[in-house]
Amino acid sequence: MRIFDPHIHMSSRTTDDYERMHAAGVRALVEPAFWLGQPRTSVGSFVDYFDGLVGWEPFRAGQFGIRHFCTMALNPKEAGDPRCRPVLELLPRYLEKDGVVAVGEVGYDSMTPEEDEVFAHQLALAVDHDLPALVHTPHRDKAAGTRRSLDVVRESGIPPERVVIDHLNEVTVGLVAGSGCWMGFSIYPDTKMDEDRMVAILREHGTERMLVNSAADWGRSDPLKTRRTGEAMLAGGFTEADVDQVLWHNPVAFYGQSGRLVLDEEPVDSGALFAGNSVLRGGRS
Ligand SMILES: [Zn+2]
Repeated sequence: MRIFDPHIHMSSRTTDDYERMHAAGVRALVEPAFWLGQPRTSVGSFVDYFDGLVGWEPFRAGQFGIRHFCTMALNPKEAGDPRCRPVLELLPRYLEKDGVVAVGEVGYDSMTPEEDEVFAHQLALAVDHDLPALVHTPHRDKAAGTRRSLDVVRESGIPPERVVIDHLNEVTVGLVAGSGCWMGFSIYPDTKMDEDRMVAILREHGTERMLVNSAADWGRSDPLKTRRTGEAMLAGGFTEADVDQVLWHNPVAFYGQSGRLVLDEEPVDSGALFAGNSVLRGGRS
């Protein structure tokens, strides 16, 4: 099984995780910039973190045979903090770097006016830099947050096929399915979604524009949840081609829209799809 985890925070994970992920079939991943739990007190904190996402962490992942890409943004949780806001002026510099394949995680946490402003501003940055956008949906009041996120996406003018609305569940998937945006699901040990519920959603909504991630971070989470979902799909009657579409082709197509997704020829699994070091450009239609 060949896996691309489209949302995982490796800076919070150990080398044991990298080893287990590689053994499970993970060959590429995207690490979105996010909230560190401990509030940042200056823009310098972001600079060091962003430099790590394009420097040290890809190097670390490479030692375990995994390609590392990232997304950059001011996250919703810190959007209202005046100590963090000036990072918006630094973002354009980072959005031009190799390995940065989207703007994200953007979106809502508590749906404040400050969050509105920062969300819209960063979608505009995605348009300016010709990048896709990763939109996180809030933990509380999810349906309202998802609806409002879709409104902001529509108003921004970014093409919906360049946007993934993440952390969806049974309640919110239907809101996004008709929007043209991609649908992201975070498979967690005991919150958000689990792998069997994910299989049921795939059965109902199909495998197109679907992204499955572990969203593993510094909290209780499991970087092998992508693999577990692939196994649950097979047990549930999906074919290996279906699994390959959801766990590999879909994230490659979505983030390939950045024009910066450089993937090696797949060394382990048969059926390598990509010529060595070719830059993939996903269709925009
Ligand atoms: Zn995340």
